[in-house]
Amino acid sequence: MIHAISNTPILSSISSRQNLHASSEETPFLTDIKPWIQRMKQVIQKSRQNSPGLSDQDWILLACSEALKSPAGWGRVGAVLVKNGKMMGKGGSIGGLRIHAEMDALKNAGSLGIPELNKDVTAYVSLQPCNFRDSGVPFKSCCQYLAESGIKKVVFAGIDPRVGKNGIDFLKSHGIQVQQIQDPKLQVLGEKIFNLLDTSIPASWRKELC
Ligand SMILES: [Zn+2]
Repeated sequence: MIHAISNTPILSSISSRQNLHASSEETPFLTDIKPWIQRMKQVIQKSRQNSPGLSDQDWILLACSEALKSPAGWGRVGAVLVKNGKMMGKGGSIGGLRIHAEMDALKNAGSLGIPELNKDVTAYVSLQPCNFRDSGVPFKSCCQYLAESGIKKVVFAGIDPRVGKNGIDFLKSHGIQVQQIQDPKLQVLGEKIFNLLDTSIPASWRKELC
């Protein structure tokens, strides 16, 4: 998802407010997220087993854990690619390089732009994929990368209309199934992590999520 938009007025103002809390391990932004860390850790361990049998909610939690590990300064988003119940790639946003979670996951899976490899793949993303088509942004949006890569389905958690625009319609027009996870707590979690921006993630959390 998009991270390169944090220099827009809306996100800059959010970023400035959160700068006040940067580097603290006790910020109110992190307090809401802390209870999820242990569950994320359990899901990470489960995903490493041979027959994990993870649910949609589990995969979204894994995507959220990837988002938490992405660098500060931009909207934090994570993505995992799943085929036949197994993870084939994961990634997080690296906004400064204009690399978004979906693109990162596709690259890590070795399937960026290769529809034959993504035939039965579901992408789980912590925020709805960005869509900047026709908005003058000089690089591809995640919706474009997903469409070109022939992903079968996208399941996302949070919504952000600033980056999502008409992305869901765009994906559907390319034959991709799209759904928001039907768990309000996970929807909010994805949005909260995205909006952490400059808030530092405690080193102890990063260790738990390795
Ligand atoms: Zn994106």
